[in-house]
Amino acid sequence: MSEAREVLIIGSGPAGYTAALYAARANLKPLIIEGMQPGGQLTITSDVENYPGYPDGVHGPKMMEDFRRQAERFGTEIQFGRVTEVDFSRRPFKITSEFGSYEAKAVIVCTGASARLLGLDKEAPLMASGGGVSACATCDGAFYPDKEVVVVGGGDTAFEEANFLTRYASKVTLVHRRPEFRASKIMTDRARRNPKIEFLVPKTVEEILVGGDGRLRGVLLEDAQTHERTELASQGLFVAIGHVPNSKLFEGQLDLDEAGYIKVHDGSYTSVEGVFAGGDICDKKYRQAVTAAGMGCMAAIDAERWLESQEM
Ligand code: NAP
Repeated sequence: MSEAREVLIIGSGPAGYTAALYAARANLKPLIIEGMQPGGQLTITSDVENYPGYPDGVHGPKMMEDFRRQAERFGTEIQFGRVTEVDFSRRPFKITSEFGSYEAKAVIVCTGASARLLGLDKEAPLMASGGGVSACATCDGAFYPDKEVVVVGGGDTAFEEANFLTRYASKVTLVHRRPEFRASKIMTDRARRNPKIEFLVPKTVEEILVGGDGRLRGVLLEDAQTHERTELASQGLFVAIGHVPNSKLFEGQLDLDEAGYIKVHDGSYTSVEGVFAGGDICDKKYRQAVTAAGMGCMAAIDAERWLESQEM
């Protein structure tokens, strides 16, 4: 293990890269351990139209590449790999990844959130094998030209995915467990105007149906009011039912809320002094690239000032 670093950042979405940019410009020579999906959720997004500074929109992966380059320009060191263990009970803090152990005086946690799944049999295996289940229309939509697909969920993500999928699919059925949607009016209006989108509510997906070829052949739906069950033939199932924070690593180390999000106070301070958090790992309300970036900035400024206070 080499000498303790001033700042180590865990996670590489907009929050992590922005924290790195600020920490690097403050001459703190940050190290980012970027995880298994460098760039985070935006790397599985298509057009980002609501990030200021990109008047014509930008592709998520391109935006994250820009973020990364900007952080590197000021001396951020970037390491691929998953952090497997943290010890925040000692000083300096100890962080262990697949590729080594590090010590750091301050840590910024930006591990984000991941797609929530329905928890049905065959869901995860079919997702892993590319057998017809996905949590990312942007990544997998092109595999369904002229096919009939189902999107599950009633939030903005489900509507965004449904609209996006009509670029490829011949028909998109949006299945939601309640008659009302929590998605914004602009998204629901857009979907209602799209002749390729049909709505089935209030229905729950009870089973994933697999054909003889081992691929998805449909879903078994249950009406939430009548409990009547029907089969819906489909070649693709897109699960868009929200996200869970990537905080397992911090259980028992940092205070988490009932949903597993890291609790922060006074900006980005966590329950352990010297450990800061920013982005979707501590934000279940806004969850935007721009808010995550802002929170990464806050965490870096808080870390810088806290480190300074330790030297006085
Ligand atoms: P969300 O708003 O939490 O919606 C999740 C949806 O999934 C809800 O309709 C929920 O149903 C349903 N759901 C949850 N668990 C389920 C289960 N086990 N089985 C069936 N359905 C289930 O999540 P989101 O759509 O991912 O959006 C997250 C945040 O990002 C929101 O603030 C959203 O506005 C924002 N966002 C914005 C944009 C945009 O502006 N372009 C795009 C995407 C996301 P209930 O409604 O019954 O709870």
